[in-house]
Amino acid sequence: MIEIEENILAHNDHLAAHNREDFQRDGTLALNLVSSPGSGKTTLLVETAKALGGDIPITVIEGDQQTDLDADRIRETGALAVQVNTGKGCHLDADMVRRAMRTLEPDPGGVLFIENVGNLVCPAGFDLGEAAKVVILSVTEGADKPLKYPDMFRAARLMLINKSDLLPYVPFDVETCIEYARRVNPQIGVITVSALTGDGMDRWYGWIAAQRAERAALAATG
Ligand code: MG
Ligand code: ZN
Repeated sequence: MIEIEENILAHNDHLAAHNREDFQRDGTLALNLVSSPGSGKTTLLVETAKALGGDIPITVIEGDQQTDLDADRIRETGALAVQVNTGKGCHLDADMVRRAMRTLEPDPGGVLFIENVGNLVCPAGFDLGEAAKVVILSVTEGADKPLKYPDMFRAARLMLINKSDLLPYVPFDVETCIEYARRVNPQIGVITVSALTGDGMDRWYGWIAAQRAERAALAATG
């Protein structure tokens, strides 16, 4: 059983390395967005595509077990989007991303958002070839999630605390959540946003711009 699991992960890592090469060659910043169901990922992506889509090519791979609903919402913004239905599967893998990219053929130099299946467990173990994982937590969830799902918060470069507009109505303590996240990952960046009201979204766009600049500098030095 353990051996089969190791073989699957080794095969996935191999394909993810190819994806990473392709993204680097095309100057694409690929971000793997992970969270529990209902954290507001799709709304966040819709707003992000609206804000950035005029300046840079935005591509979205939407992972859900069923339905095309999320990809439809993204396409309405003018961004390129494809839905990947995983059926009983609880995560996206590198091969799914590879096949989706062949269908999409995005312009070079853009940002690819991969909205993973809502699940904080196994998406941590499946590299998709992304530049960074972004974990999204909404204030309607427990502030202790970083301690309960440490693998995911350790793997993420950024934690977005979403739905800040609801903070007056819920017991969520932002400082405690940040303290827990830093306990498992001292390097993790944190931005509090409300995709609904736009609060904090400029900081998120600034973070994306910084990641793109870092990619470009890496490409220039070979
Ligand atoms: Mg969604
Ligand atoms: Zn899974």
